[in-house]
Amino acid sequence: MAKIGIYGGTFNPPHLGHILAAREFQRALELDLLLFVPTYLPPHKKLPPDTPDAQTRLDLLRLATENLAFARVDEVEFHRQGESYTVETLRTLKARYPHDQLYLCMGTDMLLSFDGWYQPQEICSLAQVAMAHRTDADEGALADYAHSFGKRYGKKPIFIPNDFVEVSSTTVRRLLILGGAEDELTLPVYQKIMADGLYGTGRDRRGLPFELLKAESLALHNEGRVRHVIGCSETAAALAKVHGADPEDAARAGILHDVTKALSGAEQLHLLKTYGMIVDDFLKTHTKLLHAPTAAEAARRVFGENEAVCSAIRWHTSGRANMSTLEKIIYVADYMEPNRDFPGVEELRALAYRDLDAALLLGLEITREHLKSQGAPMGRDSLEAIAFLKTGKEAT
Ligand code: FE
Ligand code: FE
Repeated sequence: MAKIGIYGGTFNPPHLGHILAAREFQRALELDLLLFVPTYLPPHKKLPPDTPDAQTRLDLLRLATENLAFARVDEVEFHRQGESYTVETLRTLKARYPHDQLYLCMGTDMLLSFDGWYQPQEICSLAQVAMAHRTDADEGALADYAHSFGKRYGKKPIFIPNDFVEVSSTTVRRLLILGGAEDELTLPVYQKIMADGLYGTGRDRRGLPFELLKAESLALHNEGRVRHVIGCSETAAALAKVHGADPEDAARAGILHDVTKALSGAEQLHLLKTYGMIVDDFLKTHTKLLHAPTAAEAARRVFGENEAVCSAIRWHTSGRANMSTLEKIIYVADYMEPNRDFPGVEELRALAYRDLDAALLLGLEITREHLKSQGAPMGRDSLEAIAFLKTGKEAT
């Protein structure tokens, strides 16, 4: 009796996290064979824009797994060409391997949704479920889950402690546009993506008209941030008209100001490295602020924005001494755009059109109070911004 692992997914694109997971499943379960089963069309997911056609995704997966001696890419779902359900795949594979033990390999992120899968009971009768989890996962919660899972489906899942490369396919797709994806992919996969211009890498994003810039940049955000970014862009343009700055620059800086924000702290640091940027220790340890320098550099490299726009993005989280009008506008617009709601926001909104410096100072002071209440320090750039606004002089 052979042990056969089944590792399904969209692999969109297949990245090093998948390869390391495959190695770990093979080792922990002592698999004789691991089948990568690319989904033809995921039943509960809409495909993201710029997803290559199924055949191309299959080619990429073959390239990614070509050096895994124990693995094969299986087209069982690919040829079904419709909605793919795991239970159907398992029925087909069980018919093909009637005397072997099948293991359904997945990450614990599937854990919460498993009950909603089509025919979970039958899935568990056809295969042993194996779930990889991070080594820092809550052991107690996993044990509870295993217990209730076992009660419902007659067999407990096997948990495999493993710290995969944390990156997700969504992040890899973003890094393909922003930079740094080569570290997350096997070399042949990266080369094919770039050579064929897959995942939108073939498009030149520099100097786009605003509507195209908006579409391209919004595609890099998590859905929840889109309204904020549009609000900031529109507010910035309105403030620019009142305060004599270029409304086009303001709109562009607003739409791009958070363009790298969907990346985690670790990914921000990775992107900084890719861009060859050095930041001070305060920023390195306050990774929430890192999206300002990375977004500014992305605006410059990826979108070809001018220096005024990039600089406004660079200082939008902290401010600094002696800011340009556009820098002030983006800082304030980010703070007061229509989706913001906090005590004092109405005062800030009213002030912003009358007295930009006063609004900027108010924003900085509110931030300082907030940080104080959290016991968190304020960065030097913000302190210098406050000092400059109060004295009209740079700190010495
Ligand atoms: Fe931001
Ligand atoms: Fe923002």
